[in-house]
Amino acid sequence: MNWNKRPGLELMAIFVMIVVVSILGVLQYLWTAEISRTEQGRLKNSLDTSVKDFDQEFSYDFQKLCESFEMNPEENMPALEASAANRYSTWIRINSHPGLVAGVYLLKTVSPGNTQFAALNEGDKRFHNSPWPSQLNSLRPFLLQPEKRQDSAVDDRVAVYFPWAFYDETPALVRPVFQIVSDDKTHRPAAQPIGFLVVLLNPDIFEQQYFADLVDRHFGNSGQSNFVVSIRTSKAPFHTVYLSDATFPMTSSSPDAQVNLFDLVNDEARRRGHAPVQPADRDRQWQLVVQHAAGSLGDVVASWRRRNLAISFGLLAVLAGAIALIFSVTRREKALARMQMEFVAGVSHELCTPLAVINSAAENLVDGVVDSNEQMQEYGGIIRGQGRRLERLVDEVLLFTAGRFGLSGYDLMPLEVDPIISQSMAASESILRESGFTVEKKIDSRLPLILADPAAVITCIENLVSNAIKYSNSSRSITIRAVAGSSGPAQAKPEVRIGVEDKGIGIPAADLPHIFEPFYRGQSVRDNHIRGVGLGLYLVRRMMEDMGGRVSVTSESGKGTAVVLHFPAEIHGEHIEPEDS
Ligand code: ADP
Repeated sequence: MNWNKRPGLELMAIFVMIVVVSILGVLQYLWTAEISRTEQGRLKNSLDTSVKDFDQEFSYDFQKLCESFEMNPEENMPALEASAANRYSTWIRINSHPGLVAGVYLLKTVSPGNTQFAALNEGDKRFHNSPWPSQLNSLRPFLLQPEKRQDSAVDDRVAVYFPWAFYDETPALVRPVFQIVSDDKTHRPAAQPIGFLVVLLNPDIFEQQYFADLVDRHFGNSGQSNFVVSIRTSKAPFHTVYLSDATFPMTSSSPDAQVNLFDLVNDEARRRGHAPVQPADRDRQWQLVVQHAAGSLGDVVASWRRRNLAISFGLLAVLAGAIALIFSVTRREKALARMQMEFVAGVSHELCTPLAVINSAAENLVDGVVDSNEQMQEYGGIIRGQGRRLERLVDEVLLFTAGRFGLSGYDLMPLEVDPIISQSMAASESILRESGFTVEKKIDSRLPLILADPAAVITCIENLVSNAIKYSNSSRSITIRAVAGSSGPAQAKPEVRIGVEDKGIGIPAADLPHIFEPFYRGQSVRDNHIRGVGLGLYLVRRMMEDMGGRVSVTSESGKGTAVVLHFPAEIHGEHIEPEDS
């Protein structure tokens, strides 16, 4: 496709690509939002499943524990004791965490206001009178307070479903034990409370074994291992019973998942026709609380989305950058191709013009048109001038090629400024004379020596003088100025500036940044068919930089141009007096 001939098409292609990249960006944004929602839902579902499984297993185990010690109204205390001892032995045999129960106790009501405390001895499977164990101290006031106790007879159905009270601080399960009596008034059987059965649980086994096992089973796989699991009381200030990661501050009041553990225990009890369990203090009932270690599920998905978007937008930016680069490279290639075409045309023109003049002068000589000595000298001068012009052109092309392939080599030496300027003027003398230009030299006295290659200095100045002549208008004078100055950071490096100043056509501001590029020629000079190939200033810049200096330009359209060569000064040479920089 020829973009050259169809700039509209190029703009259209850029526009389409910008639109496509923008649409891709928007789609990516929306898609990641959609995927984040789905992902959050998936993670939440999977978490809820783990929480449910945990809850079910806990409720099954706890219900089984209560069920094992649930005693129906017995006939008398010895039968009741034997039953409790049997149930404990059975439970120990079948349970995977037998250590969960630390002891079984009976608080027997011997007569109103008179109680006796007994502990089950695992060895002989009998209850023996014993002092209160210290772990049950917190329960003692409750059990010994008559107003809180269940003292009056109840219907035997009420007795069967009488709930367990769970004291989380101890922790212990407490339930009244009943004896069947005959109601004095109705003469029907009734259940008379004759004491309390206390099942003391072992908090260490709960925390270090039982909960740890449950958490490992339900949250231990790779998908859930980033969650921190806690068993804590339901109301603030929270009391933590178990925490899977002791370093994690489980403070959130809106965790990723939470469930009251005894809700399902009671549902299960009801379903299986057993006595429910009530936390002694509702505010201290146990809750399973799960939170992602990174904050919350929402935070995790949001940060995943941010990362995803950053990568996607990064890729889109790379794509957009690549497209922009392709267009810019294509444009540069086009510009380079155009400049090279102009270069070839310029070189051909530059070769043809002097050759045509030389040929016509030679023909005149051959034809004998020239007879006098003066005419002979005049024709000789013309041929010499055109020959030099050709020579310089070929030099420029050769220098350009040498510069391009890194073949340039300079012989840097300390040089006096005035003599080297004089030599440059001598080299440009004929062209100056032919075009009727006068040169004014303004060279400061006591300049330091410069460190440069003499031939390169002469070529540079010659080039600048040639441009000053080429791009002149009515004024026919050029000024060569040489001053001392300084450059570099903190103006610490002494330098000598040699400037070639003219009052010619000047350089338009738009051309100024480009005039040192190879093959670059100002638009107006091309329009006015001023000869040239656009290599002169490029070569001057290359030579100056190769010698450790630089070149600068100031110009104003229609007023004139000053091109200044900055040479590093020879430090051990003459005394240096820098002017303003
Ligand atoms: P050329 O003179 O062969 O075009 P140069 O590299 O020497 O190539 O110059 C590049 C361009 O800079 C010129 O085409 C012209 O537009 C501008 N230029 C250089 N010197 C002068 C000057 N003294 N006055 C006005 N324009 C200049």
